[in-house]
Amino acid sequence: MNAWNKELFTLLWLLIAITILGALTGHFIALLFLLMLFVIIKQITQINRFEKWMRSGGRGKLPKTTGIWEEIYYHVYRLRKSEKRRKKKLSTMIDQLRQSTEALPDAAIVLGINDEIDWTNKAARNIFGLLQVDKGQRIQNLIRYPEFIRYLKTGNYKESVILPSPTDNRVTLEVRIIPYGTGLRLLLAQDISQIKKMERMRKDFVANVSHELRTPLTVLKGYLETLLDMDDQHSPLLTSSFIQMQGQTERMEHLVDDLLLLTRLETQQKKTECVDVPSLLEKICEEGDNLDNGLGRIKLNIETGANIIGEEQDLRSAFTNLLGNALKYSQVDSPITIRWYQNTKSLILSVEDQGEGISKNDIPRLTERFFRVETKRPKKISGTGLGLAIVKHVLMRHDARLNISSELGKGSCFSCYFPIERICNKQEA
Ligand code: ADP
Repeated sequence: MNAWNKELFTLLWLLIAITILGALTGHFIALLFLLMLFVIIKQITQINRFEKWMRSGGRGKLPKTTGIWEEIYYHVYRLRKSEKRRKKKLSTMIDQLRQSTEALPDAAIVLGINDEIDWTNKAARNIFGLLQVDKGQRIQNLIRYPEFIRYLKTGNYKESVILPSPTDNRVTLEVRIIPYGTGLRLLLAQDISQIKKMERMRKDFVANVSHELRTPLTVLKGYLETLLDMDDQHSPLLTSSFIQMQGQTERMEHLVDDLLLLTRLETQQKKTECVDVPSLLEKICEEGDNLDNGLGRIKLNIETGANIIGEEQDLRSAFTNLLGNALKYSQVDSPITIRWYQNTKSLILSVEDQGEGISKNDIPRLTERFFRVETKRPKKISGTGLGLAIVKHVLMRHDARLNISSELGKGSCFSCYFPIERICNKQEA
């Protein structure tokens, strides 16, 4: 029999006993009252003991009781014990987590709602020169780089920011903030000095090789021109060899020029001037039409007179590449439309053709260096595979982005979106 039934059973027996005793003595009501009083006092005493035990945190031995109260004590005791076990497990887990994040080679800092430091790991203290006592301090008082403060303030943490380490400026850090919970943020910083060094080596190597190739190429080209001039056309094999050699040296020259331009775009400081885009486009279109044997298939729509802050020479390279591609990858009789227009957020240059188009799978790879789409074309189209990489770099230097929409067999549209904030007035500049 369970404790609750036992309790009820005892009460029932007592009631029967009182009823019999009451019938014999004629004092049933008085006896019943006494019984109720006894039961109530007993329960109040038990409640009081229970409350005292709970107040003391339920620690120590279980108070001695019987019946239903013994059960209640036992259940509470069991609950407390399992909660204690859970707490212990949780705190072990937290300790392990702390130890592992403490051992991370990357710096980790937990930031509170007001940018205050809640927690740091060992790497963060080493890399940023933070101390344990800096807990609670606002991070911008300790990491004072303007680009970091700007990044922290924007609240747009999709990208990362590159900073030198405050303790050793030979170390380059990539800092990223990851928001979590309600208003909390995790700041992660990774030492990318080695990657940067490799990148620098790659850039230097490409720049040096391209530069060194220039002189022999010029000499070769010069001699080939002389040989072609001297050629008396007696040997068709010799003549075609000279022509092929000339074609290949020209291709190589383009390649070297494109590589040098890419290196310059990656390394050179940005210069700013107010670029008259409409007249730049007019010039580019005129040159394009001349190269296209004056077929007149380029249509230029200047829908805004807006100029932008940027680098004219670089913009010229990018726009020329886009127009050159449109001419190269479309039929000689198909039209090309160039538009310069604006919406509320951007100034847009679009180059649209009705040429061979590009498959969906190839579009994301177009701006990779040396990527060329392999298509069976009736005539081989020469190119370096660097044109769109140059476009991408030029646009990046102008905070602009490239959008490519294309359909195989129907044509392509390359659009460059410049932020409206770049708009400028040529007279003021
Ligand atoms: P390339 O020197 O080969 O033209 P780009 O980087 O300019 O190098 O272009 C990469 C590839 O993208 C090209 O080889 C071509 O296959 C494709 N492409 C670029 N522009 C167009 C276009 N307007 N229409 C179709 N394909 C294009």
